[in-house]
Amino acid sequence: MCSFPHIAERADHLSALTTPLTPDEAVELLCSDCPFYHPDREEQLECGSFLILKRLLERGVLTPAQIVAVCR
Ligand code: SF4
Repeated sequence: MCSFPHIAERADHLSALTTPLTPDEAVELLCSDCPFYHPDREEQLECGSFLILKRLLERGVLTPAQIVAVCR
């Protein structure tokens, strides 16, 4: 069973994202399959893993396509 069903379903779209990501794109890529993700909540907290991955994306160390590839 896939641990990242949202990423798997949206793999083509997410792989094609270019950086810098918009805030909504970052949340979709990094949070959509997280058990702590509650899109209905008004306030969205950012965990350490989210912040580290976001920085790696911003600095070009990782690409959205690489993240999608390891989640498939
Ligand atoms: S910020 Fe972190 S804990 Fe919160 S939904 Fe995203 S990955 Fe999950």
